[in-house]
Amino acid sequence: MIEATVKQTLKKIGLNKKEKILVALSGGKDSSVVAYLLKKLGYNIEGIHINLHMGNYSEKCLEATKKLCKQLEIKLHIYDIKEKMGSSMCYIRGSIQQEKGLKNCAICGVIKKWILNKAARELHADKIATGHHLDDEIQTFMLNIFKGSPELNANTGAINRNAEKKEFVPRIKPLFYVLEDDIREYSKKMKLPAVYEKCPCAIDSYRIQIRDFISSLSRKEKENIMKNFEQILKKLPRQNNNVKTCKICGEPSRNNICRMCQLMKIRK
Ligand code: AMP
Ligand code: ZN
Repeated sequence: MIEATVKQTLKKIGLNKKEKILVALSGGKDSSVVAYLLKKLGYNIEGIHINLHMGNYSEKCLEATKKLCKQLEIKLHIYDIKEKMGSSMCYIRGSIQQEKGLKNCAICGVIKKWILNKAARELHADKIATGHHLDDEIQTFMLNIFKGSPELNANTGAINRNAEKKEFVPRIKPLFYVLEDDIREYSKKMKLPAVYEKCPCAIDSYRIQIRDFISSLSRKEKENIMKNFEQILKKLPRQNNNVKTCKICGEPSRNNICRMCQLMKIRK
């Protein structure tokens, strides 16, 4: 069932078996299933794990990732945030939050995206694959609706709609149409090495409230939300695609200074 859905999604994306795909492996079940299925379907993949150094949780994630890559016989690249940025994610986030009351997941998300795009370009990867699934996408979609900013959904999809800009390595989500419960079941059935607990720092209460509400919905209701989402998506104008170069780090950005460097400037 999952396999058929993923195959269809990859067909829709138009993924080519010669392309080099860098799978962003968190150590969790979602990205482990992505790597497992892409490998099984004969795609050319390598893995990348960002060690965020968030205590015992990060250690378990790193171990699970190493085990998975060994089992699947894929090359693993490790980006050590302490080595490259001088401190753990908790510390970086704390110093930013003292200045701006930004949410944990928002800060972590910006930093991870910046790292993944830069690493994928340096490794000459054609695509980055993540473990985002249907529940994640519905959550973000609803959050943007509640924020009154549906246009923020404009670039989402199984492949991000900035794909044609060469500075941004296109990000794909092979599990875009798969529900989290089905992924959990599949990962357990296949006995994949994976950490099943949630990130201990995901304490954005608003997002959690929405996540809990969505998880109370039936399968049919979730699928209906996605149908609405896709209809609305067709009508939304694309977000500004004007890519500039960040004046501080040289990475691609929509502004003169990228979001990552804006955060780092705040950091004390
Ligand atoms: P999250 O935002 O934590 O739900 O993660 C969404 C996706 O981002 C995961 O399925 C992974 O593909 C990727 N990701 C999250 N954390 C990491 C990490 N530490 N290293 C590499 N990829 C990650
Ligand atoms: Zn920058």
